[in-house]
Amino acid sequence: MRKMKLSNYNIIDWCEDGVTIYNTYSGGVLGLNAEYTEKFKKLTENEEFEYDPEDDLSQGLLNGNMIIDSNIDEAEAIIVQNKLARFGNESASYTIAPTLECNFRCPYCYENGKRYNTMDERVLNETINFINKTSENKSKVSVVWYGGEPLLRLDLIEKITNGIKNIKNYQAQIVTNGYYLTEERAIKLKELNVKYAQVTIDGPPEIHNKRRCLPNGEDTFFVILKNLQKAADHLFINIRVNVDKTNMKLADRVLDYLEEYGLSGKVGLYLAPVDQVNDSCTAPNCYKDEEFAVEQTKFARRNLSRGFNFIDLPNFNPSICGAVSADCYIIDPLGDIYKCWDHIGYAEEKVGSIFDTENTVLNANYLKWLGYDPIFYKDCHDCKVLPICMGGCPYKNLKGGKMSCDASKFNAMEMMKLLAEAYNSEAAGANA
Ligand code: SF4
Ligand code: SF4
Repeated sequence: MRKMKLSNYNIIDWCEDGVTIYNTYSGGVLGLNAEYTEKFKKLTENEEFEYDPEDDLSQGLLNGNMIIDSNIDEAEAIIVQNKLARFGNESASYTIAPTLECNFRCPYCYENGKRYNTMDERVLNETINFINKTSENKSKVSVVWYGGEPLLRLDLIEKITNGIKNIKNYQAQIVTNGYYLTEERAIKLKELNVKYAQVTIDGPPEIHNKRRCLPNGEDTFFVILKNLQKAADHLFINIRVNVDKTNMKLADRVLDYLEEYGLSGKVGLYLAPVDQVNDSCTAPNCYKDEEFAVEQTKFARRNLSRGFNFIDLPNFNPSICGAVSADCYIIDPLGDIYKCWDHIGYAEEKVGSIFDTENTVLNANYLKWLGYDPIFYKDCHDCKVLPICMGGCPYKNLKGGKMSCDASKFNAMEMMKLLAEAYNSEAAGANA
């Protein structure tokens, strides 16, 4: 007989007419009516219970990972899967900055010590060789065009793409400020295998134009929105809104503009807390993890009634991020290799060079990343959202800062309730 127990990764909401369970490993959500809630209580009244394959409740719970074999240590299983994802040799990813030059002069980006240069022919050719060589036998290959502003050098993106076009299962995305993302360029990007674009908007025009500005201070907000109207016909566009205490309340007004420009439903949008990875936010204005989680939930609740759904119930993120995975490379315009996105252009942070691959893996800077343990803080071991958060940003942890918890640690229950409300009101609407 198969012995089972409840998963530690269940977020359980008991209410008057039943129970809702969200599992942070599978991302599954199960809502039980009163009758099934009683069955669930009875089934799980003891810490260990028997699995009945004929029982539909047990099957549903097992499918959602809400019950698991009683002899499994879930945190150990997560750590093993983390290692397989990071060192499993199946996929390779390349974040490439053809240039670190930018047409914007965002105050939080232009910093001392960063190098601003552009790939020459020699680096370009070696980047192509490097990708072709290191992606051999990988079943999945991904490229992120990054910068600086990568659209300043679409010509280099095209040349590199042509040099790696024989790679199978290859897909690309671009992180761009959106200023040059015209329809013509969006079509070109699509031809160059780019499917997704991430564009940052830092609030309504009066805020965005101060934070994400041209050297002459002219508008960028409306140029970007006009671009997105057409670009969204060719690429999946996700808007990132960086928020801190000074612009959070104004994030809703970005939605007003998306509606006005016919972009609601055409583009995705998510909030990201401005943080201090690179001291880009001064402490009093930055949200603490818990504060951001509260704001994120309020934002989702406020805007659900307007027809925008920002309810986020994530699931297992096995590899954390490319910084700690073996076959993930960030390549700058000099051919230097980095591990963390926030380090590109800082010579002292490089872990190797595409011109010297022999010495890239076993150097101290690289080993620091590859040897990273996701259970960096002992609290993470028993954390209910470990599958989602995986201990937080490795860079912040290695730097020796305080623990940075994912918003889901504080708002998973609220988000789940919100989802149930949205589902119930949709169902009520359909039955009306
Ligand atoms: S280490 Fe942190 S900052 Fe660097 S890429 Fe990973 S998540 Fe981002
Ligand atoms: S950093 Fe916080 S939220 Fe993330 S796994 Fe650790 S305790 Fe949980």
